[in-house]
Order: sequence, then C-alpha cells, then structure tokens
Amino acid sequence: MTATQLGRIDSARRPLHAALLALLSAAASAGASPVASDSHSPDNTVALIEGSVVSMDGGATLTNGVVLIKGERILKVGAADSIALPEHCKIIHMKGKWLIPGLMNMHVHLGLKLPGAAGDSLATESDTEEVLRMAGNARLSLLSGVTTLRLVGEDHGTDFALRAAIERGEVLGPRIKTAGEVIVPTGGHGSLEADGPYALAHVVRKQIKDGADWIKIAISGGISDTRGSISAAPMTDEEMSTLIEVAHRNGIKVTAHNGSNEAARQALRSGIDGFEHGYHLEVAVLKEMKARGVWLVPTIVVTQPGALEFYTKIGSPPWYLERVRITGADHWAMLKNAIQLGVKIALGTDQFPFEPNDGTTATVAEAELYVKAGMTPLQALQSATTQAAAMLAMQDDVGNISAGKFADIVAVDADPLTDIHALRTIHFVMKGGVVVRDDRDEYAAH
Ligand SMILES: [Zn+2]
Repeated sequence: MTATQLGRIDSARRPLHAALLALLSAAASAGASPVASDSHSPDNTVALIEGSVVSMDGGATLTNGVVLIKGERILKVGAADSIALPEHCKIIHMKGKWLIPGLMNMHVHLGLKLPGAAGDSLATESDTEEVLRMAGNARLSLLSGVTTLRLVGEDHGTDFALRAAIERGEVLGPRIKTAGEVIVPTGGHGSLEADGPYALAHVVRKQIKDGADWIKIAISGGISDTRGSISAAPMTDEEMSTLIEVAHRNGIKVTAHNGSNEAARQALRSGIDGFEHGYHLEVAVLKEMKARGVWLVPTIVVTQPGALEFYTKIGSPPWYLERVRITGADHWAMLKNAIQLGVKIALGTDQFPFEPNDGTTATVAEAELYVKAGMTPLQALQSATTQAAAMLAMQDDVGNISAGKFADIVAVDADPLTDIHALRTIHFVMKGGVVVRDDRDEYAAH
C-alpha cells in the first residue's frame, strides 16, 4: 500500500493494529526509514514550536511553548519569546497540539502467548521466529506512543537480543528494560524453575549475568494457568528471602507476579520491590506496601470488560474467560483501594501496549481505568511517565519534557489533564529526537 492509498482511507474505520502496520509499510515503500536521521538539521537541532507542553510535575502547561532538541536529548523548554532558535534548526509545528512525554508501559511480554487458538498456533515457534515476532511488536508499541517498556518475562534470552538490536538502531522499538525469564519454584507460573534457596540464588545470578535489568518471580498462581491457586504461596521463606537478597546485592530490584495475600505478606517481609497485578490484595497488604514504598503495576485492563474482544479474537477457552470474570471484581476493588491509600502505581498492561482495548490501545485504556478508579488525569499520566521512570531509576533520562532528558515526546489533540481520553488521539511520536510517527505528514504530502 502506498502512502497515497493510505491517505485516502478513512483511518478511523480501520483497526489500530492494521493502521499501524499500514503506516509502517507506507513509510517503507516511500523509501523513508522511520529511523532516518534526516529529521535533524545539519547542526542536529530540532524545535517543536507552538504546542502546549504539559508538565508531569503538576506545574502549569506551557502554551505556545518551544521544545528545542539537540541530538537525542532536550536542550531547552520554554516560552516562544524566551528561546532563540539556532539558524539551521529544523522546525516542527505543533499548533493546537498538546505535548506529553512518551508513555511508559511497565508490564509487557512482547512474545506473549496465551491459552487458546492463537497461542496454540505458536506452540512450535522457535526462539528465532519468536524474536522476530517480538521485534514487530516492539515497533508497533513505539508507534502507539510507548517509548519505554519494561518486559517482565520472555523466553531464552530473546529479550536481551531484541534490546541490543534496538539499542544498536537495527530494530525500531521503545527503550527496553527487561527481567529475562520468570523465576518460579517447580510447577509455578513461569518458565525458569528452581527449588531451594541456593538453586534460586543461582538462577537469579545467571539472569543478571545474561543481562536482566530486573528479576521477575511468580509467587502465586495466575489466571492463565490451571496449576496452583492464585491465593497459594508456594515458596518457602528461605527461598524467597535468599533470592531477593542475591538480587539486591547485585543492585537489581525484584518484582513478583502476585495475587495472593499470604504470598504478599511473605514477600514484603523479605524486602520485595514490587507486585504485578495484585488481583486479590487486601487493604492491610496495600497499607504495608504503601509504608514500605513497594510498587504496584496493576494491569487492570486484563480483567475488565474492554479485554473481552481480545480474548474472543485469540480464541480463549471458556475456563479462562471464567477465571478472568471471577478475578475482575476483586481486581477492580483492589485498584480503587490502592489509589485511595496512595500506593505507588506504575502503569502496565500485560497486553501488547498497542493491543486494541475498549476502542483504543491497552496502554491508553489502562490509564483511563485508573482515572475511573479514582486517580486524577495527572496522576494517571504520572503512572505512565514520572512514576514509571522513578521505578526504573530512569528519572534523569525519561518521564518528563525537560532539559537534559531524552526527547521522547508524543502529541495529542486535546488537553489530557482535563480529559484523559485525549490520549486516544496520539498521532505524533518522537523517540530520542527522531520522529517515528507523524500522521500529518502522510496526509499533508498528498
Ligand atoms: Zn504478565
């Protein structure tokens, strides 16, 4: 499909996934690589002008703002009359647009396989095939406005290879922090099994040696498997505390897939850094998380009605849908309590960041649900920017549009601080100073 053909299609009527794929193939057929460096001027500066720059720190929105970028990073942000543009600066007009930092999604599996027909068709997928599929998903994630991902469970080092290829500029994708494989006691909800404190210490050390930025463990059952109850706590105290100690001695944080109160209390005693999902967590556990500064990554989209379309599409079996339904009510109540108690929340979806959900992407739907559950729009945006950056210890590099940070920026058509649904209008994505998506170019050129 050419860019001209794409421009004639009513994009609103096409599914997002297809729209993004079409966008990419259009860019490729036009001979313009999305990672081309020609978005910079000869002296390597770009200015986004006339837009409204939204602060993630709660400050006033800068109207008619200038974001001056040199190379990968933001040089200056300020009012139009306060910044002199360099002579050869490339200008990108943002009039009528609101600029926010690139979104960060903290619970992603780019190689996700779930029970059902779609997952069954991947049963014989090789690691080589899988990493190519993951690269496609990384590209779609970035184009959907997500400029940083945390992966929390991939297979056999595929994530390390993909992260390296993205960092070398060979593959288009978000910045990646990854937890390698999910470590579990035998029979647990993950792929890397070990038993006893020192066998677990060994696999933790091995994952870190191979390149894990985080350690992910599963300390209760999950929705997607029938082995073990979500409320069980199968690790011994010694196993849990030893593996967390070993990670911490290497400067690596540990997060746990968890829906169980018993396992949560045990993990909190052992110094865990975060919980994923938290399906059934009770108020006492949430209070303890708040007191200890433990992170929650809710992935609320997976148990709410917006995901049913997705589960139907992938052919989820009836037992799975029933587990989703049963879990959904507790999960929603937990999220509302966590927000009210002020537990630190970083946005994550457990679906592909770009996966259609409730008429938008999973990432945007997740942020909308946080607002529905009690956050202000600013808090929901922070969960996907400054809070996620703090969780990853990347706050000097990403999470806000300010001098010194990577120029990871998306544009929307309305003020997201007034209405979080503005995130549905992402049409411009910049990563590290390079425009990877600008829907206006497609239409303006033809
Ligand atoms: Zn997950």
